[in-house]
Amino acid sequence: MKSAPGEACGVFGVYAPSQRVSPLIYFGLFALQHRGQESAGIATSDGRTVTVYKDLGLVAQVFDEAKIAGLDGHLGIGHTRYSTTGSTHWTNAQPIHRQVGTTSVALAHNGNLTNTRQLAHELGSGVETSDSALMVEAIARRIDDERSDERGLEKAMFEALPTFEGAFSLVVMDQGRVIGARDPHGFRPLCLGELPEGGWVLASETAALDLVGATFRRDVEPGEMVVIDATGVRSLRPFESTDPRLCIFEYVYFARPDSRLHGQSVHAARRRMGATLAEEHPADADVVVPVPESGIPAAQGYSAASGIPYADGLVKNRYVGRTFIEPSQSMRDRGIRIKLNPIPETLAGKRVVLVDDSIVRGSTTRQLVEMVRSAGAAEVHLRVSSPPYRWPCFYGMDTSDRSTLIAARMEIDEIRRHLGADSLGYLSLPGLLAATEADGFCTACLSGEYPTPVDISSSKFVLERTT
Ligand code: SF4
Repeated sequence: MKSAPGEACGVFGVYAPSQRVSPLIYFGLFALQHRGQESAGIATSDGRTVTVYKDLGLVAQVFDEAKIAGLDGHLGIGHTRYSTTGSTHWTNAQPIHRQVGTTSVALAHNGNLTNTRQLAHELGSGVETSDSALMVEAIARRIDDERSDERGLEKAMFEALPTFEGAFSLVVMDQGRVIGARDPHGFRPLCLGELPEGGWVLASETAALDLVGATFRRDVEPGEMVVIDATGVRSLRPFESTDPRLCIFEYVYFARPDSRLHGQSVHAARRRMGATLAEEHPADADVVVPVPESGIPAAQGYSAASGIPYADGLVKNRYVGRTFIEPSQSMRDRGIRIKLNPIPETLAGKRVVLVDDSIVRGSTTRQLVEMVRSAGAAEVHLRVSSPPYRWPCFYGMDTSDRSTLIAARMEIDEIRRHLGADSLGYLSLPGLLAATEADGFCTACLSGEYPTPVDISSSKFVLERTT
């Protein structure tokens, strides 16, 4: 359950010489639906022709059997989109396709570039063009269609990638190959799996490999480019240096709990976050209740470490998803109840520890605390399994500017009062990092330390005291 943050896309790619890949890509995207619900698309190739189908909507809304049947071929890529740059309309749906002479290129992108303005200037494009479209343009301009070894796309990407700054996990294809690439910081995940009947899969998360029956082989490394074609898998290094900085929010919230990052179970890491939170911010309470679904593992960890019983006190309406029907005003007034409903039997008369994974803007959390109280809770002790979110993200998370971030505007006790909680405790940054049992993270939105230069004159940094 989230009012924010939003995430920026899931990507998937397959090269499987013995089978039609469009059904695999469909199911891969299904597993990555949580990463973006605005549009979905698939591009495939039979070795000669690239075919693309994409539209606004959820994967199951965009594709049916006939559309999947129309996507022929043994290699392809797919994308689910959550817009962070570029508005929500069809032209921003991915994969983006470009024809360069006889070479047909399709690209799917997860992340956000930070040098879009400079790239647009160099390419002579309008700055309103999405960063993903600029990437396609930069690659297309470098394609030498005359190359006799048919490695035009590979060479073009090798040259173009170092001109991109910021966050990008890419899957790109032409008629004969699928290429995966990660920026030198590796802000967004990308992994490589192998199919039992032969062939390779690239996916934003390991859960998507599981769903199509592929075995996880390894993560694509930060700064690595992986080329998959008839000769097998090749690894190239287009960047001079790398500095791994996986987005810490992949662990906190974005990634599915059944995915693995750095070879670690995301679910287990979230439980450890909850356990550390219990040590850092104990509470005198009767019951630990998660905000479903991403707060569940942390609440379990909190309960196990504190000895306070765990109970489901809120039920998520699982099928809300992204609705294209505007709710009526009276329904909007009911706000959060469209997504969550309390179980009064769990909450009435109890001192409740309410565990959520993050608070970004605070508006949903405030409604949530109010809802738990109105269901009869005697006290509400809010516990958050990540530190205060104080700085804007430039790498693909949908946080517009600092003014919208509650922890940028208020001290902790002011936030507590604003949210109507009896107590409030956030997990510390060292506690969060220790819970991952890994290192090499971006923590910019929590620490203000950005791994790449960002435009501090940007409107994102504007901070007005609005309350
Ligand atoms: S700023 Fe925050 S949300 Fe953005 S990439 Fe870094 S850790 Fe992730």
